[in-house]
Amino acid sequence: MSFAVDIKRRVSKIARIGSLSIGGNRPISVQSMTNCAVKDIKSTTEQIRRLEESGCDLIRIAFPDLQSCQLIPVIKSRARVPLMADVHFNYHIALKAMSQGIDGIRLNPGNIRKEAEIIQIIEEAQKKNVMIRFGINAGSLDKNILAKHREPNSLALAEEAERVVKFLQKLKYQNFVLSIKSSNVMDTIEANKIVAKMCDYPLHIGITEAGFDRSGIVKSAAGISILLYEGIGDTIRVSLTGDPVKEVLVGHDILKALGIKNKGINLITCPTCGRCQVDIYKIAKKIENRLQDIPIPLTIAIMGCMVNGPGEAKIADFGIAYNKKEAMLYRKGQLIGRYNTKEAIDLLSQEVETLQRAEQN
Ligand code: SF4
Repeated sequence: MSFAVDIKRRVSKIARIGSLSIGGNRPISVQSMTNCAVKDIKSTTEQIRRLEESGCDLIRIAFPDLQSCQLIPVIKSRARVPLMADVHFNYHIALKAMSQGIDGIRLNPGNIRKEAEIIQIIEEAQKKNVMIRFGINAGSLDKNILAKHREPNSLALAEEAERVVKFLQKLKYQNFVLSIKSSNVMDTIEANKIVAKMCDYPLHIGITEAGFDRSGIVKSAAGISILLYEGIGDTIRVSLTGDPVKEVLVGHDILKALGIKNKGINLITCPTCGRCQVDIYKIAKKIENRLQDIPIPLTIAIMGCMVNGPGEAKIADFGIAYNKKEAMLYRKGQLIGRYNTKEAIDLLSQEVETLQRAEQN
């Protein structure tokens, strides 16, 4: 199934962190952050492994003190994707993290304010080829900017970003990404639109402290999708309270829904109604679990009855439409046969796996 709308992406410079390039025409990367204490090395490395398996391109880890930075070599030796140290208040932590081999640093210019300290970090980053993300956050804006705008609105966020960009340009520092975030969706969108016009540095987008479950996913999807549709955003993070793996899965789903990422299974399921005589949720979950590791782009439709079922099933790569309790299985618009649910799921999985093997060879 193809998406008719082509998004015209803003052309940005490229920033590099380890093996990952952000910006330019590089794929939009999905990132997340570990949420266990870094000193709990077992949980940290386990979480990194699960994030990598779920398709996370870049992982941020909070390093709260100098001592915790000693763990960087061992954590790095167990990670396949680039790692970014989240640093607040104490610039010595950023210097130490870089001396221990971290790939990137996330700084909040709102809480490391002394220019001399930021200059030291940048000089070290330049020597070690470390990328920095400058994270402008509504919760920690420059006090003069905040006083001028009276509230941390989009104009205040954009002005803070402009202040940071001018400072970095004075230093001729290039290898950085900007993020401009608020927990307010509209302020985040507006601020990013202003900054996207003002400069051509790569942008990390997301809604900060979006929340959990339904509200967090909805806020993140709304903010990130609108910006991506405008062509803005080179790397995304969905911020959710809870298991960070969910952030990555939702991030990839947003990219898939917009047709930006064409990888893996795009599952279409009918919402069900009174006509439905089977448990579509249970069936779709089974199919999702069986095929979650398939990397090739495929659209699979699972439909509950004959009203819209055959139509959707025929335009998908594979589809199941129920006729009473009988599953009608389609491949590329052609009816393969009528089966019970178990047979249909088994056959569908076999067909998809055969297709994947053929693509690999
Ligand atoms: S496909 Fe059929 S069961 Fe599913 S929502 Fe539409 S009418 Fe209802």
